[in-house]
Amino acid sequence: MSELQFTQEGIREGKAWWVQETPHYVILFDEAARELLQPQKFATQAETRLRQIAGVLGLNKDNAARRYPIGEKIIYFVHDRATCTHGNVDVGGIDVPATGRAWFYRHEESHAVLIRVVGALPPLFNEGFATFVEQPGSTRHHRITLAALRQNVLPSLLKIVDAEGFWRHWGTYSPFMYSQAGSFVEYLFKRFGRGKFISLGMKFSRSPVLQGFRQAYGMSLAHAEVAWHGYLLRRRRALPLLTRIVRGRQSDSRWVREAIWTIKNQKAEESAAADADKPRR
Ligand SMILES: [Zn+2]
Repeated sequence: MSELQFTQEGIREGKAWWVQETPHYVILFDEAARELLQPQKFATQAETRLRQIAGVLGLNKDNAARRYPIGEKIIYFVHDRATCTHGNVDVGGIDVPATGRAWFYRHEESHAVLIRVVGALPPLFNEGFATFVEQPGSTRHHRITLAALRQNVLPSLLKIVDAEGFWRHWGTYSPFMYSQAGSFVEYLFKRFGRGKFISLGMKFSRSPVLQGFRQAYGMSLAHAEVAWHGYLLRRRRALPLLTRIVRGRQSDSRWVREAIWTIKNQKAEESAAADADKPRR
């Protein structure tokens, strides 16, 4: 890996950036990020994470170039947490705050690789992929989804499969939506392999989302949703609770219980309001 240098090349927002180049990234650190993180270590870890992401997608390394086939190097800005609070990824590159949490970086890096290898997917699949990949081997998202499923506080996939529907339902269901998407995408990978998922980019570019899904998987999304729910329910004993003991009983962690309670209340209020709107006889 090349030596660290302060460069004028990456000038953005009127700042100079500390640059670390790797086989797949040009990583730029602002002053605060450079002080908080060790850039060279961060760059080495980013390459390790990239290898994990490439493994999920089944990309083969070109040994001569020492690179995976992801196109040009990804431009990757690491910012002061005071000026950047959320990760953001588009075809232009990655922006993240310097949080120091590996799962968070892996989430954003997964988006960046996915968009290059598969294309821009609707959020159910895009956030689902990044959420699935962020913590390899964790059953956390299955467990959270199962808890919400059993309490009937998940929106159906048909309602959130396109971008508009996904963000419209965000207001009510946000505590569970990334986990739900992550659990579903993980199920798709485990049950049907990676090839069908990778083909979604091309299918969606040519057909409406529901039709594209059916072409890739040979079944409707509604059918896949039922099969996925069945998979979670069958596995429930293998999905450890997220908690500790509450009053002598095992139970899901407090935020899961509170989120379920909040959504149930909101749904009850919505249906009461809908009833009030109905014409009276
Ligand atoms: Zn994301």
